[in-house]
Amino acid sequence: MIELSGVHKSFGTLEVLHDVTLSVPAGSVTVIIGPSGSGKSTLLRCVNHLEKVDRGRVRVDGELIGYRRAGNKLYELSERHILKQRARIGFVFQTFNLFPHMTALQNVREAGGGIELLEKVGLAEKAASYPRQLSGGQQQRVAIARALARDPKLILFDEPTSALDPELVGEVLDVMRDLARAGTTMVVVTHEIGFAREVADTIVFLDGGRVVEQGPPSAVLDRPQHERTRAFLSKVL
Ligand code: ADP
Ligand code: MG
Repeated sequence: MIELSGVHKSFGTLEVLHDVTLSVPAGSVTVIIGPSGSGKSTLLRCVNHLEKVDRGRVRVDGELIGYRRAGNKLYELSERHILKQRARIGFVFQTFNLFPHMTALQNVREAGGGIELLEKVGLAEKAASYPRQLSGGQQQRVAIARALARDPKLILFDEPTSALDPELVGEVLDVMRDLARAGTTMVVVTHEIGFAREVADTIVFLDGGRVVEQGPPSAVLDRPQHERTRAFLSKVL
């Protein structure tokens, strides 16, 4: 579903992604872990062309993201085409980004969904509540329902539980676990290692903009091959 090949990204002289190659099969869950500043958010943002890659290619469902090919040249797509591609890629942020003046249901409807999506995230009874009347965990579940409303091919999650009080993390992870079980293609940046172990098909450890290692949880978490992975895990486990 997602293919990144040889992706490089710099901000000025700061190289943030170095030769990142990743493959995310349809229906699979990939969890990205790594220290702060290692390029995790930038990597997700490259998948939907919120950041333009300097080198390399991003494909989603076989389609080149952000560019079209003419002969052996690449041209950036028009804003309209980019928005069209982006519409089919769900993105859930650390901060929930709901419209404050709309109810939960209006937020979901605005994205083309309905009450059944609030049901899916266990919030049908909060349909008429405004974001300020919801807990952080509930707001994030509405944000997930919004992402689902566009019938996305995949959903990117950037630290979806990092802004939540600890007692609210579980309800959001439960919704994500249900999505994973239902076969949703997901890429999740998270420090929730227990969730990663249970739900991920693949864990990618990113450090200094490089994929240091990737593999199933049993390999990356239990038998890490690289000292940098071991050092990182010793801090978060
Ligand atoms: P992570 O999500 O792993 O914490 P980020 O992808 O957010 O890392 O950032 C990686 C590095 O790129 C950091 O050093 C960050 O300061 C830098 N960075 C991210 N976005 C920008 C930007 N728009 N302009 C300049 N530097 C940026
Ligand atoms: Mg980040």
